[in-house]
Amino acid sequence: MLQDKIQDVFNEPGCATNQAKSAKEKKKGCTKSLKPGAAAGGCAYDGAMIVLQPIADAAHLVHGPIACLGNSWDNRGSQSSGPQLYRTGFTTDLSELDVIGGGEKKLYRAIKEIVQQYDPPAVFVYQTCVPAMTGDDIAAVCKFATQKLGKPVIPVDAPGFVGSKNLGNKLAGEALLEHVIGTVEPEYTTPTDVCIIGEYNLAGELWLVKPLLDEIGIRLLSCISGDGRYNEVAQAHRARVTMMVCSQALVNVGRKMQERYGIPYFEGSFYGVSDMSDTLRTMARMLVERGADKSLIDRAEGVIAREESRVWRRLEPYKPRFEGKRVLLFTGGVKSWSMVSALEGAGLTILGTSTKKSTKEDKERIKKMKGDEFHQWDDLKPRDIYKMLADDQADIMMSGGRSQFISLKAKVPWLDINQERHHAYAGYDGIVNLCEEIDKTLSNPIWRQVRQPAPWESGPSSTLLAAE
Ligand code: SF4
Repeated sequence: MLQDKIQDVFNEPGCATNQAKSAKEKKKGCTKSLKPGAAAGGCAYDGAMIVLQPIADAAHLVHGPIACLGNSWDNRGSQSSGPQLYRTGFTTDLSELDVIGGGEKKLYRAIKEIVQQYDPPAVFVYQTCVPAMTGDDIAAVCKFATQKLGKPVIPVDAPGFVGSKNLGNKLAGEALLEHVIGTVEPEYTTPTDVCIIGEYNLAGELWLVKPLLDEIGIRLLSCISGDGRYNEVAQAHRARVTMMVCSQALVNVGRKMQERYGIPYFEGSFYGVSDMSDTLRTMARMLVERGADKSLIDRAEGVIAREESRVWRRLEPYKPRFEGKRVLLFTGGVKSWSMVSALEGAGLTILGTSTKKSTKEDKERIKKMKGDEFHQWDDLKPRDIYKMLADDQADIMMSGGRSQFISLKAKVPWLDINQERHHAYAGYDGIVNLCEEIDKTLSNPIWRQVRQPAPWESGPSSTLLAAE
């Protein structure tokens, strides 16, 4: 069954990259085999946790050896405005005896204990490699527990060995479609109800966007899954429009919600001034097309005009400080283009951007914005990045945490813009936060100090002079 689901996910008609492939290539799937010795990134289970763990009032139980939970623990700063149960790590902590005797009973006991002690609205159970190989049937245990305990217990069948983090994202989406979305009816609905998919409220980013939606009169019925509540996610089928924040990861959810419930979806971004405005505009327009009052568009335009003029005023002081500063952008997906426009607006020069995780549309968009000359690196190797930085071709590198050491080794400022970041960069205020962080990083005196030769490198006389 899992095999069928994976094949189905790989056949995603909503994914442009997949559609461009031949039948033979489609069969192979999207996962590239890893090179021995290369950093692998998260496994499928890790990807599933990324999508679902921000549902803050649910319990998240990892069925496997304790290291599966430990390895991925707390590496993303998804925030909650209320319940904190998602911050408690639950695991069945399988041992050798469970490998021999099976872990299903232990899993049921763990679910029961969680329900009795914490009374969450639901329990998500994550399959991992070891019990998947020994044959524990988590779907059957979850079904039994749901009946016995009277709570939704949702199996998330994405053991690490089936593929990458990205595949895990999609399998988590499938679990939501199969067991959660459509199971709860909202108390009331409005013509401006929206569902946002793929926004995880990292460092509280959703809170920079939601007040604007409230002001325009757009109701966030459901967010999958930042600052999420189980019942809100379960009500997502009543949204009038769906927004996909990162289309590659959860495109299957948006497309299937359109098929099942007739909810149109669009791909948008909250990063960068113009993209933020485009997103609000598109959301308002699509809601009006689906029956919302036309005044929604005027209210959206009013908020956009006010916020844009406010943000440009706040960015003005950074422009002279950023003049001539060159950025090496090493990210992917939507961020590969939305960050480019955001940073250029603040006066920075972008050397190029990596497009390894970007779709064909993302790449086309960059080409349209920047022309053919702009560097788009599909597979930039760490040693090439190091060379660029060591040759002083960039003043700062912006990337995820995994690439930070290349930059630090080359003694070049580095800023985290991926999921482990501690600052919120979404929305209009987010771009100001980003510029503030870039400015602090660029002007940090540590870079001047680490670039100076060490005392033992500058000869005995200079050491003596320094001592005097
Ligand atoms: S690859 Fe398997 S064993 Fe490793 S963390 Fe992922 S689920 Fe656990």
